[in-house]
Amino acid sequence: MNFDIEKIRKDFPILHQEINKRPLVYFDNAATTQKPSVVTQALADYYNQYNSNIHRGVHYLSNMATDAFENARKYIQLFINAKNAHEIIYTKGTTESINLVAYSFFKRFVKSGDNIIISALEHHSNIVPWQMACENHKAQLRVLPMNENGSLQLEKLNDLMDDKTRLVAINHVSNALGTINPIKEIISIAHSKNVPVLLDGAQAISHIKVDVQELDVEFYCFSGHKVFAPMGIGILYGKESLLNEMPPYQGGGEMIKEVSFEKTTYNELPFKFEAGTPSVGDVIGLHKALEYVQKLGLENIAAYEDELLEYATKRIQEIQDVRIFAKDISKTAVLSFLVGKIHPYDIGVLLDKMGIAVRTGHHCTQPIMDFYKIPGTVRASFAFYNTKQEIDLFIEALKKVCQILS
Ligand code: PLP
Repeated sequence: MNFDIEKIRKDFPILHQEINKRPLVYFDNAATTQKPSVVTQALADYYNQYNSNIHRGVHYLSNMATDAFENARKYIQLFINAKNAHEIIYTKGTTESINLVAYSFFKRFVKSGDNIIISALEHHSNIVPWQMACENHKAQLRVLPMNENGSLQLEKLNDLMDDKTRLVAINHVSNALGTINPIKEIISIAHSKNVPVLLDGAQAISHIKVDVQELDVEFYCFSGHKVFAPMGIGILYGKESLLNEMPPYQGGGEMIKEVSFEKTTYNELPFKFEAGTPSVGDVIGLHKALEYVQKLGLENIAAYEDELLEYATKRIQEIQDVRIFAKDISKTAVLSFLVGKIHPYDIGVLLDKMGIAVRTGHHCTQPIMDFYKIPGTVRASFAFYNTKQEIDLFIEALKKVCQILS
């Protein structure tokens, strides 16, 4: 491990509290991550010192806020190695980024009888917007199936595609299982038939270095709150050539060049897709969060989280009848499991009584649960501020819970 965990934990005040008279163990990082003080301080500084609406402002505060907002865009560009800052579109989150593409890409590129491909491992956010768009445009939604071990049946992708396939939209990492999908191969197969690819990076951005130019991916989406930034801010990266062709997603201020009652002309990128007042403070928070991650180093983060996952996977097998999902594949620090016939909800509620926060249920991936014929799982998901001592507390608590419930 190349970083000082005690020092890191001091940056996250929320971790230092008791829940139900026990020290908080926060293992719900796949749902949302905690925010370091540099992020909350940046929000406070913005609202206390230079809160102002951006662009077109002639006054000092507006210029300050605009600079911070646009500097953040440049930083995010470098963080994912996009070619241009105007390929970075601010949204509310991954969900909105996908909805934007589903609306706008479909309107421009998808006709009746066309099809697009998603996978069996998707979050509802990467299913429902496509279903809605397919319904509107009379297109077909095709699904790349999964294997029992939590991986995708990649060998079937080529056969699913034909000359009417317009897009492949797949997650980089599965939120329910942690599966790291073979995105390079997926992109290469799709591109061999000139099909563009959208990657849902909600679960990857805080664990894996993303280089959109090296990947040569057409769209990449993520949420700020999954990478230690505030809620309410997300990113859509899109290749300039495609974004330029796509019509605006929403109408309003900022996205126009000129408006008359007869005709409106649209603004250039990225503003064409950013109607209305954006969440300026949250953008500034996202900038700070990404700087924080960059300083730690994503390679260091991944190596440390791998250690945590390995340790937790080993220890949880001390529990009788435990079933670990996606145990033997390449994955991020997600431990999705069930114990015997105990309902996952009951485990989650009792763990909470012992100060341990995990998520239970279908994790917005009902098709995965249907595949396994289960109501849901218990999911413990780790971040770089978690420790092996916390895993020990979790395992001891889980043993007690299972004793009570079985
Ligand atoms: N995609 C994946 C893989 C996710 O894990 C999530 C959230 O859990 C989303 C999309 C939706 O993200 P948000 O709710 O931040 O828009």
